[in-house]
Amino acid sequence: MKYQPVQNYINGQWVNAAAAVTLPVISPLDGQQLSTVPLSTAADLDAAVKAAKAAFPAWSKMPIKDRVQVFFRYKTLLEKHLKELAELCSEENGKTYGESVAEIEKCIELTEFATSLPQLVTGEILEVSKGVECRTEHVPLGVVASIVPFNFPAMVPNWTIPNAIALGNCMILKPSEKVPLSCGRIAQLLKEAGLPDGVLNIVHGDVAIVEAICDHPGIAAVSFVGSTKVAKIVYQRATHHYKRCLALGGAKNHLMVLPDAKPEMTAQNVAASMSGCAGQRCMAASAMVAVGNVDHIIDKICEEARKIIPGENLGAVISKESKERIENYITEAEQNGAKILVDGRGAQVAGKEQGTYVGPTVIDYVTPGMSVATEEIFGPVISIMRTQTVDEALAIENANPYGNAASVFTQNGGLARYIIERASAGMIGVNVGVPVPREPFSFGGWNESKFGVGDITGKSSIEFWTKLKKSTTKWNPEAGVNWMS
Ligand code: NAD
Repeated sequence: MKYQPVQNYINGQWVNAAAAVTLPVISPLDGQQLSTVPLSTAADLDAAVKAAKAAFPAWSKMPIKDRVQVFFRYKTLLEKHLKELAELCSEENGKTYGESVAEIEKCIELTEFATSLPQLVTGEILEVSKGVECRTEHVPLGVVASIVPFNFPAMVPNWTIPNAIALGNCMILKPSEKVPLSCGRIAQLLKEAGLPDGVLNIVHGDVAIVEAICDHPGIAAVSFVGSTKVAKIVYQRATHHYKRCLALGGAKNHLMVLPDAKPEMTAQNVAASMSGCAGQRCMAASAMVAVGNVDHIIDKICEEARKIIPGENLGAVISKESKERIENYITEAEQNGAKILVDGRGAQVAGKEQGTYVGPTVIDYVTPGMSVATEEIFGPVISIMRTQTVDEALAIENANPYGNAASVFTQNGGLARYIIERASAGMIGVNVGVPVPREPFSFGGWNESKFGVGDITGKSSIEFWTKLKKSTTKWNPEAGVNWMS
């Protein structure tokens, strides 16, 4: 194994989990075993919650301007270790080195936002009647938890760690058991940046530890990012225990391509959106609705897709099971009458035969009832459906149960606005294939792509990670008698 067995991180120490059960950590790039990850139990979680609870009074009482100094230093450390972090991310997740560099750069941007929090949480104060003041303050919740998926081993943890912790909370992080290594390095860098022991704790594992997080009475709030199936379970279970919960789920993002779209730019964006990170992005284009005759653009999309080569500018999908699942979707579509214009099945990379690669795949003449039209494939596959009008395209987009992202490619501003107003998705792009809002704008979908109120990043996250204290004060007896007296 290339790396030491992964351990939990509790109160600033690397410790073994109580039980000795582990899972292998496999690199999707070549099938090599990188490490093992422990399946922790409720006892491990309890130790982490105790450590977080003990750290909370001192951390939360520290002025926020002091707390964010840790994140100024952490940002510098992310910059210093960018290459090493990107290599680790790529190794455990299978994405290309370039994609991993972009992921760490996004971590830096997220951290920059956290350092601006003192400017954003100033609260309000007003003399509401003579001599009487009302004032609001954002107060941290206490011990909070963040449960994250495999597809962004560094970025998604950094959606929550900097903001939740800078706002004064102490955190339990539950990484994906498929990619536990980047989180360990993040914890080391935060310690080096001066984060006190116990403020961030990591407990590894799978289902059992997630259930224990939802049930633990010492945890005030749970954020979750992963599939819709598990987001629903976590949201129900955490709120059943009266916790605050924000659970982000899966997606089926639709791109609408209109005949007046710029062909080159559209084709490049569509191909990049469906294949970036091997299609394992909750913001990836997964379905395309061709409005009217856009055959010339579809030809160009195929040209672009053929330039995407597994092992060169296309990474691996996370596991053998994933590769099989994605290839089965393609085969099923073909059997049901769809036309495979570019076929990524059976992809192999010389010298990395145990790697799990799927080539870019363009499927045309998909009908709205096919599974490739409705289900999240999470691979480098785009399913093209054909319509005659924008309203028909919108009807297809609106009928899908998810609501993370939708995009339109057109040069017509009026039509773009018409679609922005009617698409049922939280994040909309116009001539943008992956419409992820950049900080300080917040990230979050609608419908079955998110359960709970607010968004996970940006200004919206302040509301999730804090509660408002409202105080009413009167110090001046000379102020006179009024209704508050
Ligand atoms: P997943 O739902 O399988 O796992 C997410 C987390 O939940 C992991 O930490 C895992 O250990 C845990 N888990 C898995 N099964 C569980 C169960 N039955 N009960 C309790 N916990 C369980 O997701 P994944 O495969 O790691 O990630 C891919 C999914 O995440 C895709 O659906 C993708 O769209 C979604 N995702 C969404 C967003 C978003 O912003 N909406 C962002 C990234 C990924």
